Amino acid sequence: MFAFQTSPLDRHGDSRHRPQFIAQRLQKPETRFLPVIKQSIATKVDANQASPMWLDYQQLTAITPHIEDKHLIYLGEYDSCDYFTFRLKSQSAMERLSSLGDKFELTELRQLLKNLPPEQAHICNVAVAIEHWHNTHQHCGVCGHQTFATDAGFVRNCSNQECQTQHFPRTDSAVICAITYEDKLLLGRQQSWPEKLFSVIAGFVEPGETLEQAVTREAFEETGIKINDVRYYGSQPWPFPQSLMIGFTAKAVSEKIDLMDEELEQARWFTREEVNRLVDNEEMFLPFKHSISRTLIDQWLNRNK
Ligand SMILES: [Zn+2]
Repeated sequence: MFAFQTSPLDRHGDSRHRPQFIAQRLQKPETRFLPVIKQSIATKVDANQASPMWLDYQQLTAITPHIEDKHLIYLGEYDSCDYFTFRLKSQSAMERLSSLGDKFELTELRQLLKNLPPEQAHICNVAVAIEHWHNTHQHCGVCGHQTFATDAGFVRNCSNQECQTQHFPRTDSAVICAITYEDKLLLGRQQSWPEKLFSVIAGFVEPGETLEQAVTREAFEETGIKINDVRYYGSQPWPFPQSLMIGFTAKAVSEKIDLMDEELEQARWFTREEVNRLVDNEEMFLPFKHSISRTLIDQWLNRNK
């Protein structure tokens, strides 16, 4: 199964806007804080394996002496422990983090996934996604003034008294689809991808579209293939940087491929035998194991075998 299907956090959406609630959670000895920056998480490296560097309150204030509650994002509660994240901003904070004792490094969440239990993967996913949102919404999209965080990091308010627009975290909807024709699967690759990597067809939903319309449009624009029987498969939050992948299967009504919009440098039909042989011979690589794209391909490979 693909990553991020477990959602153990109680986000306390009804209470997190209250400063007293957050203050009380901050004082609990079990509460933990995760330093993040962009797509990376502070990790401690033990026996060559990286794991998230969860800090207690004392360690938090040791590395960021001037931190205020408003800099902390409340992720939620899981198993009687409350989790916060914050942005690791300065070089000096990083140096102080190094001095805490454990061997420390910044690791991209994607690299950590294979070692993380599903609950930890989910919490880290929320941390990286919301930190990215804060980082890219420092200014109001309506009037351009600076924004500031409220509601324990789940709202940003415009500082312009005449505007006061509230901004909420957003995700980008993207569709991804395993398109089959008889016993073959349509796989393609973009020029910018690592060599030999192939995947199923994907693209962002455009304004005014249903998800099914987006799948149909993307398939046609990228490969010239018309499809029907579009069926929902599942979804996956994909915080790289802020997508929600919505998976489908569909059947092609024609076989001829035309790379119309040139987004793909290559696309063609593959049989199961071909994919298995090419992968075994390292002549083809499939997407990251924890992704919904890989799961769609693996499921097709195993079916009717
Ligand atoms: Zn504004």
